Amino acid sequence: MSRFLRSDFCHLDVYTPGEQPRDKSYIKLNTNESPFPPSPGVQKAAAEQAQSLQLYSDPECTALRQTAAKQYGLKAENIFCGNGSDEVLNFAFMAFCDASKGIAFPNISYGFYPVFGNLYGLDCTQIPLHEDFSIAPEDYLNLNKNIVLANPNAPTGMLLRVAQIRSILDANRGNVVIIDEAYIDFGGESCVPLIEEYDNLLVVQTFSKSRSLAGARLGFGFAQKAIIDDLNRVKYSTNPYNINRLTLAAGEAALNEQSYYDANCRIIMENRQWTTDALQALGFEVLPSAANFIFARTNQIDGEALYRALKEKGILVRHFSKEQISDFIRITIGTAQQMQALVDAIREILN
Ligand code: PMP
Repeated sequence: MSRFLRSDFCHLDVYTPGEQPRDKSYIKLNTNESPFPPSPGVQKAAAEQAQSLQLYSDPECTALRQTAAKQYGLKAENIFCGNGSDEVLNFAFMAFCDASKGIAFPNISYGFYPVFGNLYGLDCTQIPLHEDFSIAPEDYLNLNKNIVLANPNAPTGMLLRVAQIRSILDANRGNVVIIDEAYIDFGGESCVPLIEEYDNLLVVQTFSKSRSLAGARLGFGFAQKAIIDDLNRVKYSTNPYNINRLTLAAGEAALNEQSYYDANCRIIMENRQWTTDALQALGFEVLPSAANFIFARTNQIDGEALYRALKEKGILVRHFSKEQISDFIRITIGTAQQMQALVDAIREILN
């Protein structure tokens, strides 16, 4: 830390991304990426754009937003593009939360929410999950705070139904409710159709999971025009060219090849069921997941020991040291072969 850092930033708790190791090649089941490459059209579109990198990208992301508008049945004015959904979330925290309007979220959820809260000096209300690790919608009524919920939640993978989210939106008309749908394509029902009805709803999605573009950094915000305008106000005050040309082209091509990604999601959901069954047969408790990962524990070995033993065998999963969930590991769902290797390795470790 230099002696020039502003004093209120000296004690920031920063976000710790999952390991991206370079020492050897692992079966990488730790950061919820897709095991499948981007579709052929994406690779072609990005390669073509590489020839125009001397030019700035389109700050309005016009072509990408128009293509997305068609696919989602919205107007382009309802869509915001971010450099990963993390940027959409960051801009939303900047735009809608200040010291007078704090934010509420579950005490076990995406680790970036408290980091943003801390960065912007917000009063963060962290609401405990139920004992079964589900979110209790009744805990989010009339809070007089903005709210951010991951649906499905991370790292549990557990899903709220749209009717439950509707009850939260109805009881918080004076606050922004952000629904982070990073994992919605693996069996959940999206809240995007609700934006017409609720001027307090911002739905956030990402291309990092179901669309195999984690390395391209692209996310969407969906909301009524006024909220999108607010996000643009922040964007044009920080980084107008936030999406690079390669990513704009890749994102548009991905939307045009949706059936490839839908088929991949179906495979991931099948592999999720297979892995859940296999781990349950080995004595694990596996939370019901609607995401491309599962959260599992066993009383035969603690979470951190299992994480380390798997790493030694060349398989990376994610372990969180937070007390309530330290006996779990989070396993990204990969290909059938990867999941077979995982289950074989766990069987050996338990023996
Ligand atoms: N929300 C949730 C719940 C996540 O798990 C992630 C992935 N770490 C993100 C948002 C951000 O993803 P990205 O910035 O890659 O779109």
